[in-house]
Amino acid sequence: MYFESLLDAVLGERQIFHIIECPVCGLEEIYYEHCVTKRLIGRACRNCNFVQKFENRKSEASLKPNSGCTLKLDHFPYLKNRKA
Ligand SMILES: [Zn+2]
Repeated sequence: MYFESLLDAVLGERQIFHIIECPVCGLEEIYYEHCVTKRLIGRACRNCNFVQKFENRKSEASLKPNSGCTLKLDHFPYLKNRKA
């Protein structure tokens, strides 16, 4: 399916957050969130062939520590030593 591969390319891993009525065509417009971070990543209307990705750097910075920050600490051991 073309539209699904478009979603894969633009939004990547995702799950449905909620569905509203598309302001353009009146059919389903789907909002997607990231499976792990629950961050809103974009919206799409299949009927309009429309996909939008939300850029939201702020919420990326406020990710929980267990979602990758521990890995970063290993790259900078002196940060750990300073606190110990
Ligand atoms: Zn639409």
